[in-house]
Amino acid sequence: MSIALWIIATVIVAAALIYKRASLLLFSVGMVAMFAIGNVLEIVGPVLWTILAVILVPINLAPVRLNLLTKPILKAYRKVMPEMSDTERDALEAGTVWWDGDLFSGDPDWKKLLDVPKAELTAEEQEFLDGPCEEVCKMLDDWEVTHELTDMPEHVWQYLKEKKFFAMIIKKEYGGLEFSAYAQSRVLQKLAGVSTVLASTVGVPNSLGPGELLQHYGTKEQQDHYLPRLASGDEIPCFALTSPEAGSDAGAIPDSGVVCKGEWNGEEIVGIKLNFNKRYITLAPVATVLGLAFKMYDPDGLIGEEEELGITCALIPRDTKGVEIGRRHFPLNVPFQNGPIRGNDVFVPLDYIIGGQKNAGKGWRMLVECLSVGRSITLPSNSAGGIKSIALATGAYSRIRRQFKLPIGKMEGVEEPMARLAGNAYLMDAVTTLSTKGIDLGEKPGVIGAIAKYHMTEKLRACMDDAMDVHGGKGICLGPNNYLGRGYQGVPVAITVEGANILTRNMMIYGQGAIRCHPYVLKEMEASAEQGPEALKKFDNALFGHIGFAASNFMRSVFYGFGGHRLSSVPVSGPARKYYQQMNRFSANMALLSDVAMGVLGGSLKRKERVSARLGDMLSYLYIGSAILKRFHDEGQIKEDLPLMHWAMQDTLHKLQEAQLSMLDNFGGVGSVMRAIMFPLGRIAKRPSDKNDHKIARMLMSPNDVRTRLGKGQFLSPEGHFGFLEETLQNVIAAEPLYDKVCKAAGKRFSFTQLDQIGAKGKELGVLSDDEVALLEKAEEGRLRTINVDDFAPEDLLAGKAAFDYALKNLKESDAA
Ligand SMILES: Cc1cc2nc3c(=O)[nH]c(=O)nc-3n(C[C@H](O)[C@H](O)[C@H](O)COP(=O)(O)OP(=O)(O)OC[C@H]3O[C@@H](n4cnc5c(N)ncnc54)[C@H](O)[C@@H]3O)c2cc1C
Repeated sequence: MSIALWIIATVIVAAALIYKRASLLLFSVGMVAMFAIGNVLEIVGPVLWTILAVILVPINLAPVRLNLLTKPILKAYRKVMPEMSDTERDALEAGTVWWDGDLFSGDPDWKKLLDVPKAELTAEEQEFLDGPCEEVCKMLDDWEVTHELTDMPEHVWQYLKEKKFFAMIIKKEYGGLEFSAYAQSRVLQKLAGVSTVLASTVGVPNSLGPGELLQHYGTKEQQDHYLPRLASGDEIPCFALTSPEAGSDAGAIPDSGVVCKGEWNGEEIVGIKLNFNKRYITLAPVATVLGLAFKMYDPDGLIGEEEELGITCALIPRDTKGVEIGRRHFPLNVPFQNGPIRGNDVFVPLDYIIGGQKNAGKGWRMLVECLSVGRSITLPSNSAGGIKSIALATGAYSRIRRQFKLPIGKMEGVEEPMARLAGNAYLMDAVTTLSTKGIDLGEKPGVIGAIAKYHMTEKLRACMDDAMDVHGGKGICLGPNNYLGRGYQGVPVAITVEGANILTRNMMIYGQGAIRCHPYVLKEMEASAEQGPEALKKFDNALFGHIGFAASNFMRSVFYGFGGHRLSSVPVSGPARKYYQQMNRFSANMALLSDVAMGVLGGSLKRKERVSARLGDMLSYLYIGSAILKRFHDEGQIKEDLPLMHWAMQDTLHKLQEAQLSMLDNFGGVGSVMRAIMFPLGRIAKRPSDKNDHKIARMLMSPNDVRTRLGKGQFLSPEGHFGFLEETLQNVIAAEPLYDKVCKAAGKRFSFTQLDQIGAKGKELGVLSDDEVALLEKAEEGRLRTINVDDFAPEDLLAGKAAFDYALKNLKESDAA
């Protein structure tokens, strides 16, 4: 063997061992073996053996390594690591790491994902969706809610309480429905397709709020008292955290609770005097019990040594003396119940604290834990449900509405937003299904919750724009006949609540992800916070694990950069295989970039929000891609669904790649080097093609199985807007050959309007039966209702006091007459 061959073989063995994440010992044995071969071949002499020994001996001998390497590194590490606030620590420690951990590993175990059981509804959950859920969708008139009453009518409130819509998370032993997270998600999807007010009103009590907090942390007495009353709808809850001075920075609430003596039911007791000013609180105007977050102080040491106990959560009945509640905010014409709550010297006993006195100061942790679950369910499901219904409606509308003698959906330019709508509907359903399945398996996925919240609401925003564009003026003119406008107006609400999106993207996703999902960073941080020889050993383990991990991701990135990802092993064959392999490549890239960013920026990474945002985007798109692949797999890799799966994967991988490139473009010289390593042959992920967009747009414009699967579970009864559109779509499609027949018989190309008159003409020419004429009449009726918009007498648009004054004036005039 020549020297060159030996060097190449040694480099390959070293690279393979690093790639495969061999232990330090195995790596060292491998190198010694190669040197031994070199020795036999008379290539390696004493000099090379000495160099190898100088490298391998200290790192393999623990006492030497600890003193020579680990100790100084730990010292430097402690200096650069930023201080962590208590609220940050709670946020980091709350919840669990699930599939997000695999994605962060640079080597996702796809079999683990595919083995996750398919999400399914129980018979009882399905009955609820087909029964009460279908029924309430029929009962609700969104125009009446959003314009006339600015609230849901009393009979709808009553029905929701009776059928326990507010008790989906409450256990059966307390009278609740105890539905799975997946079932809750399906209910919310269906309701969101009908009314944002309805979906928000049902979503909130089932998300973060007294019900969730009580079940996890309440005392037995609190659970026995409140949970049955919440389940029956006798109590309506709200949860008040946000204050005028503390929105995104919720940990900074100025609201206080001071431990003091006071009178309660005629006796002097030790209790809490609360002063608070909360705003934006959903359900507050109608709530009977408010969950309240405040900072607790014990200046006189009445309950212990600690003076500042920290954020605490308590349950305060509405009628407690000093509570001001009932006024409403008016959130963008989507008037679900929302308003301020104020409290001035409100005295309550200590056992109003959720979980009792022992939970004083534990409120923040309780909140972040529950929020990780709620965030994965409510807003992502509302967004997915809304877009599933709207994708179908836009497909139907684009076939019914004609311009330039063609259905508008057949114009190439319109195909692009249509494909985006359908592709995203497929994707969003996949993400909500996977995330809620994770919760049903016992996870409390903080990072996944933030990903799902941010990306599903951003996709909602983009898709609502697309739907509005395709509908033109039809989407703009509000009225009973407009099924888009209120959803469009409500988008910023979804963007802002439960962690406003800019903050969620820039700080939360990667901020939590980097520490929670990374296999070594949290261990290093924990070890560095401790003292003594044990801490040094723990740090040493984490540090050398981390070095091996980073080296392996480097090797993978180099190998994959030259197309090696096509050789990476994945447990599937068929059309999705290449996407799994691309995901392997991007996962290794992200893990490496994450280490590079931490290495280069150290503690200042926390302030480099745009780096954090792009790393968070990479992690997010890896998660979204996984959800799409899982859906395609779980549904049996249906061939007809391929255009949707391809669109969703290509869009996701392209965005992932662009996030990576934007980070590299903004990362100076290191970015240029990493770009050369990761993309030596240029970009690999392409945007969805025009051809695929065309296929999807055509699919969306006529009834078929793919379309039915896309809208599965949504409210499509003809009594509702979307069901009516579906019926009209079928009638218009059935009318097309009849129209052709009449044109042919008449020897003239009519416009595809006034179909009833075309029917009459066909009858006159003897080419249409009575049934066919009736069908054309029905198609025309549906067509007109679909393309027409509402108009109003000017006085009908008066609202509030102006409407009242106008009515009074009319009354006086008629009295006078
Ligand atoms: C309709 C509605 C319903 C709500 N329901 C409830 C409820 O039931 N209970 C409750 O307690 N609260 C509720 N909220 C409050 C909601 O959670 C807050 O509105 C939200 O946390 C944002 O706070 P803010 O509106 O004060 O915005 P701000 O905190 O002022 O933020 C303004 C902008 O700055 C960005 N920003 C702030 N800090 C950072 C940062 N560090 N990095 C990057 N960007 C940042 C934000 O992302 C946002 O875009 C509701 C709000 C609304 C509008």
